[in-house]
Amino acid sequence: MADKTFLDWPFFEDHHRALAERLQGWCAANLPVDHGDVDRACKALVASLGEAGFLHYSGGEKLDVRSLCLIRETLARHDGLADFSFAMQGLGMGAVSLFGTPEQRQWLAKTRAGQAIAAFALTEPDSGSDVANIAAEATRAGESYLCKGEKTWISNGGIADVYTVFLRTGEGDGARGLSAFLVPADTAGLEVVERLETIAPHPLARLRFDKMRLPKSAMIGAPGAGFRIAMSVLDVFRPTVGAAALGFARRALDETIGRAGLRRIAGVPLADLQMVQGHIADMALKIDAAALLVYRAAWAKDMGTARISREAAMAKLYATECAQEVIDAAVQIHGGDGVKSGNIVERLYREIRALRIYEGASDVQKIIIARQVLGEKS
Ligand SMILES: Cc1cc2nc3c(=O)[nH]c(=O)nc-3n(C[C@H](O)[C@H](O)[C@H](O)COP(=O)(O)OP(=O)(O)OC[C@H]3O[C@@H](n4cnc5c(N)ncnc54)[C@H](O)[C@@H]3O)c2cc1C
Repeated sequence: MADKTFLDWPFFEDHHRALAERLQGWCAANLPVDHGDVDRACKALVASLGEAGFLHYSGGEKLDVRSLCLIRETLARHDGLADFSFAMQGLGMGAVSLFGTPEQRQWLAKTRAGQAIAAFALTEPDSGSDVANIAAEATRAGESYLCKGEKTWISNGGIADVYTVFLRTGEGDGARGLSAFLVPADTAGLEVVERLETIAPHPLARLRFDKMRLPKSAMIGAPGAGFRIAMSVLDVFRPTVGAAALGFARRALDETIGRAGLRRIAGVPLADLQMVQGHIADMALKIDAAALLVYRAAWAKDMGTARISREAAMAKLYATECAQEVIDAAVQIHGGDGVKSGNIVERLYREIRALRIYEGASDVQKIIIARQVLGEKS
């Protein structure tokens, strides 16, 4: 049973504790799902998370980051695909939640009900960490924008109903010349050109825009504000990536405690061996430290801090790196069974890896932290 004592920390209010308990019950009854067909599984997960009311927390004028983190942590503990399905509704609609017009916000009713799937399209083949290098462009043509270019590594690509897309509109150089757009998946000129397979499969695609025409009203926020919008969305969602990592790590520790109590070596349970106890202590310590950073960042945002770049970067960096170490130790303590296909720790070992890369790789988080500490603007 995962440690719940952190819920008594002063970061939380009673409604957070009630949410965690309700979700835990839902997870126990509904997860994990069959991952055989990830498209189908994700569509069903979005629908059922919506019906159960949990997607209500994924978007809206006031995003409660502590709730987002608690939900991601709990879902990740039970099923990585469930966490992914929840998270993408939030990330995909993040710009609309924070900056959308009333017309654009109408999509939120659908994504929060689980009746529409959302995606966030920032990365390009030649612009990953280097967001300022985005090349896909939207050129003003009368009352509309004509768009061309590519996006890749787009989660939910191929199954999404609506995409938030960041394009170069040219108001300034580099990061100053980007804008955000809300693009329904059935927009003419938007094509899914490739589906991507990864070590922990979920829907992913490369998109192409060719003579894609968007009305002026599709722009989210002001012209040229795209980079600031993207970074504001990532400020909110980076701690939640840390929370997902935390969920994976807690599950790895739970599995390890179970295993160490049952497996006997030289007549004694593994848990009686001090070297194993040392590993378990390290795992528990890393989990608590990660949880403190994740919920510190979430709490700071919820208390009204406008930007939490430093706290968010610390939470994501530390929680994802530690989760990788915790899961690696879990695999080791499971011995051969730890690498056997289908074992929970084997699945966690694959699932954690991408979290150290997406929404800003670990090295990029270090740069953000250093700049903040050194007093530069990020
Ligand atoms: C599973 C998965 C899902 C994703 N989902 C989405 C999505 O939904 N939407 C979306 O827009 N994108 C998504 N991405 C893309 C993701 O955000 C990028 O992969 C990530 O930003 C890194 O970009 P890149 O892959 O181009 O790597 P690169 O930018 O080429 O970076 C490679 C490595 O170089 C190092 N590095 C980079 N910059 C620096 C620097 N300044 N200083 C020092 N070292 C540096 C880091 O170690 C980094 O890992 C997803 C990626 C994955 C793997």
